[in-house]
Amino acid sequence: MPIAIAIDGPAGSGKGTVARGVAHALGYRYVDTGAIYRAVALEARRRGVSWDDGPALAALAGALHLDFVWDDDVLRVVVDGQDVSRAIRDDEIGTGASTVSRHPAVRDALLALQRSLGARGAVVMDGRDIGTVVLPDAALKVYLDADLDERARRRHEELLRRGENVHLAEVVAAMTARDRQDMERATAPLRQADDAVRVDTTALTVPVVVARVLTLARERGA
Ligand code: C5P
Repeated sequence: MPIAIAIDGPAGSGKGTVARGVAHALGYRYVDTGAIYRAVALEARRRGVSWDDGPALAALAGALHLDFVWDDDVLRVVVDGQDVSRAIRDDEIGTGASTVSRHPAVRDALLALQRSLGARGAVVMDGRDIGTVVLPDAALKVYLDADLDERARRRHEELLRRGENVHLAEVVAAMTARDRQDMERATAPLRQADDAVRVDTTALTVPVVVARVLTLARERGA
């Protein structure tokens, strides 16, 4: 029976990689909700809308035509016909996503879209509030976490691979600030759902975490 799987956790906890691996193994769709907030931040920047202007951001979010398109094994994010997959991955846009996602009106404007993407089940959705707000009835909720140093190391490695020459200390600082903003906001803060299974990925490889989530998914009927 196809189920919905919610995966939440802080930046660098391995959510995206694990969610993709689990979706691939089960033949489920993968929905990256962080990409949606990133697309809003990027589009706001392009249109000159401030990341602090809640009402204008909510209007923009509500009108955004967003598609997830599979290109072989790569998930592309297309906004109003334009492929923004690369542009939304900039660290600055990650910070912007965290800033725009603080506004309750923005979260409201994106809730129906996220729920519709998860409504038919057979989906792995990752984000910050999937188990608590977006899909509270998901058959399996996983909360991935890892020590700050390890999460920053992973993120740093990823940035270096992409040719961005940043210092590890800068990554640690940016990650600490973003975690704090995501955990301390009033609406849908990042937190583990009461019925979520917590997995600390600090010392685990991706295949091990994927296998663990798959075992949990099968126990719940996937
Ligand atoms: O997961 P990712 O780093 O791409 O998410 C970018 C930002 O979007 C997060 O820092 C968070 O502030 C926001 N976000 C959110 N709720 C989600 C997914 C992402 O608030 N479900």
